[in-house]
Amino acid sequence: MTSLDRRSVLRAAASAAGAGALASGCDPARTDTSAVPDTGRPPQPAASPAPARAARPPPRVPGLPAQIVHGPRDGHAVALTFHGSGDPQLATALLTEAERAGARVTVLAVGDWLDEQPAMARRILDGGHELGNHTMHHRAICALPAAEAYAEIRQCADRLRRLTGSAGSWFRPSRARRATDLVTRLARQAGYPHVLSYDLDSLDAADPGAPAVQRTVLDGTAPGSVVSLHLGHAGTVAALPPILDGLRRRGLRAVTTTELVT
Ligand SMILES: [Zn+2]
Repeated sequence: MTSLDRRSVLRAAASAAGAGALASGCDPARTDTSAVPDTGRPPQPAASPAPARAARPPPRVPGLPAQIVHGPRDGHAVALTFHGSGDPQLATALLTEAERAGARVTVLAVGDWLDEQPAMARRILDGGHELGNHTMHHRAICALPAAEAYAEIRQCADRLRRLTGSAGSWFRPSRARRATDLVTRLARQAGYPHVLSYDLDSLDAADPGAPAVQRTVLDGTAPGSVVSLHLGHAGTVAALPPILDGLRRRGLRAVTTTELVT
């Protein structure tokens, strides 16, 4: 991609953000009005012409805890992990920036986003990135009764299976930094031996501006870090190239979660 092309992509990203990206943080402490469950809407048919290449199925990694917070501290890798929803143009711009820098990311997709944007599953996997489950409706899953929490996990897993042939590599709870024991157990029942948490919150969902996101990530990242970020935010798209550059200067590579922990 030429630098002109790249500027166009970023301009498109910025104008898409102006259309009103609502904060959709994974942290329950934040106010979030963008993810009210819509249980009355029937699933949309997939519009992508053919299934994306198969996502890696959930791995069972001996010695890895049921809840992953970070990877090896004595290595040279980190995992940038993204809440998957929001404007597809912004999501595509972010993936393109990652690929330009030779980085791979992990996208935890919200099920109703996949219903609206089924082609994104293919786009993520075709870029060499990893895809996972971030519940069907992004409700506060740790506060739900067991049956409802399980349905949130299963419904998103079903979307991923239909689009990619597997339930995705990882499960991350919605609106909770850590899964409760119950949610960890329900995720295991749904086929995910490990729940993916994180050790660094970029705070990008509040749209603090690209410099603040860059500073938070670079100040807080250690070898092995799992960083929580969000698709659908122009500030995050703009922050990614300097973040990747800063990591590289410190000898750190952004890899998929599977590469980080196996
Ligand atoms: Zn989230």
